[in-house]
Amino acid sequence: MSYQVLARKYRPATFQELEGQEHVLQALVNALEQNRLHHAYLFAGTRGVGKTTIARILAKCLNCETGVTAIPCGECASCVEIAEGRSVDLIEVDAASRTGVDDMRELLENVQYMPTVSRFKVYLIDEVHMLSRNSFNAMLKTLEEPPEHVKFLFATTDPKKLPITVLSRCLQFNLKNMSPEHVVNCLTSVLEKEGITFEESALWQLGRAADGSMRDALSLTDQAISYGENAVTEASVKSMLGTLDQQDVYGLLDAVIAKDANRVLTQVLSMAEFAPDFAALLDEFLAVLHRVQITQLARDAIDNSHGDKELLLAVASSISREDVQLLYQIGINGQRDLPYAPDDRSGFEMTLLRMIAFTPLEIVETSPPYEEGGDGSGGISESPISQILSQLSDNQSKSTERKARSVAKVAEAKPLAKPEVKSKHEQRTDEETKAKIETKKESDTSSSEGARVDSTREVQEAEQAPKATEVLDINGMAWNEILPRLKLAGVTQTLAANCTLAENTAQCLKLLLNEQHASLWNKTHEDRIARALGTLTGYDVQVEIEIGLVEDETPAQLAERQRGQRQAHAEDLMKKDAVIQTLIENFNGKLDQDSITPIQSGDRS
Ligand SMILES: [Zn+2]
Repeated sequence: MSYQVLARKYRPATFQELEGQEHVLQALVNALEQNRLHHAYLFAGTRGVGKTTIARILAKCLNCETGVTAIPCGECASCVEIAEGRSVDLIEVDAASRTGVDDMRELLENVQYMPTVSRFKVYLIDEVHMLSRNSFNAMLKTLEEPPEHVKFLFATTDPKKLPITVLSRCLQFNLKNMSPEHVVNCLTSVLEKEGITFEESALWQLGRAADGSMRDALSLTDQAISYGENAVTEASVKSMLGTLDQQDVYGLLDAVIAKDANRVLTQVLSMAEFAPDFAALLDEFLAVLHRVQITQLARDAIDNSHGDKELLLAVASSISREDVQLLYQIGINGQRDLPYAPDDRSGFEMTLLRMIAFTPLEIVETSPPYEEGGDGSGGISESPISQILSQLSDNQSKSTERKARSVAKVAEAKPLAKPEVKSKHEQRTDEETKAKIETKKESDTSSSEGARVDSTREVQEAEQAPKATEVLDINGMAWNEILPRLKLAGVTQTLAANCTLAENTAQCLKLLLNEQHASLWNKTHEDRIARALGTLTGYDVQVEIEIGLVEDETPAQLAERQRGQRQAHAEDLMKKDAVIQTLIENFNGKLDQDSITPIQSGDRS
């Protein structure tokens, strides 16, 4: 038997197996048991929460040969046919592909006829909001006076798009998003049944990446299993999803609490080398603050499911409750403003710097921003400006772009100087700025004014230069070359990595998605890829994803193959190694093949 994807294998077959939507199920079960049947049901909720699954179970309940029941037998011809998707009296329509009024007329022409074998003729219309207005009108008459033998089951991700005339004739159920906790519980039970080893922290990563969709969670788990070679570990999931290390987030939080702007900037600089998704990073930062506050106010409610309890406790005791609220609020505002920032990185940086700059006054007085150590005699230590400048001259081998960016940050960091010590501080800074710039540029500027002009110009150049070089002509490029430059993350990255390029004209990119991964597809990913391409190329690129049989190698397959080659190469090297050969000969040793892993890491699918 061929491998069945988890999402299909573990699709619930009865209401009892379906978890997380108890409020809806209770109402349905009651209605079925008391035989109070409505003729049209609407299930609303985001993708992957179980809308069509519930509708299909309801169809079984209505048509089970044992009678209308809340517990369909699952064995009669009707139940089996519905489960296998071949019941003649369950008419499933995907409104996304059949929106026309003619389609609807054709469909409704047969409404008047009795069901072929079952009790009811059940129409299951998925994504019903996609129907055209005329189609809705064609359907309305049937909805107003439905024949006794007809039931309508509608599913939609966007109930607001339904005409009020249709809405008012349906019994509406709103399905809840799956919480990460719930997803983790489900994944735990699935993996235990499959006999696959896993780390709980890995499941939390998958749960968060699935963004409320159980189907996505199971699809990602499928991939994690093959990626991690039949084990779901945090390291492999992290590498697969391209998520950031939580340690980095704690490092940043620590620097913010210590009001150490310099450390914040340095860490962001080093993180920027891995081209992280700064918006996601800010999300993660806020999620940690949320957990810190819970630790402070309701310690019992915190668990170690993220594997960071120690860190949480440490942070919780080093910052006041009010300050956590303040940082959180600043972070939320920063998140809102991120689209307006020149780029995500500077927006992220400014948000963290704002957290430092806006600390309440009495706290500033007890611990001035740039004073290190507790002794009062210590005076002012090196400011971030001079530190970054000295760092700049130290790293002369680094690329010019990096230099330019660091200088650009000087301009951002400047307003941080503490008001009370402003004059003294600025004086010192100006002198240092002057000194550094003079030595670096070997200019003979003598006045402080001159140095300022120089640094301003450099900042302006720095802001313009990278943008000009970042625009790229992708015409004729292979998908393997384009994809890493798009800096996608999460499900979008996974989906894109499983595509090949079908067509690449200047304005339109057609991708072919491997049908094994068809469940990952939805319109938002097309939009995200198009946006990333727009940023990369500097013009609007249209993206269309088709699902089909992929024959060429996808980036995911390429990465997989390269991993295999590196592994083979590593094993080969070990076998040929003179020291190892001596050990084997002299001590009757054996080479443990499984323990060999290539050192090169960081590859992503
Ligand atoms: Zn049955």
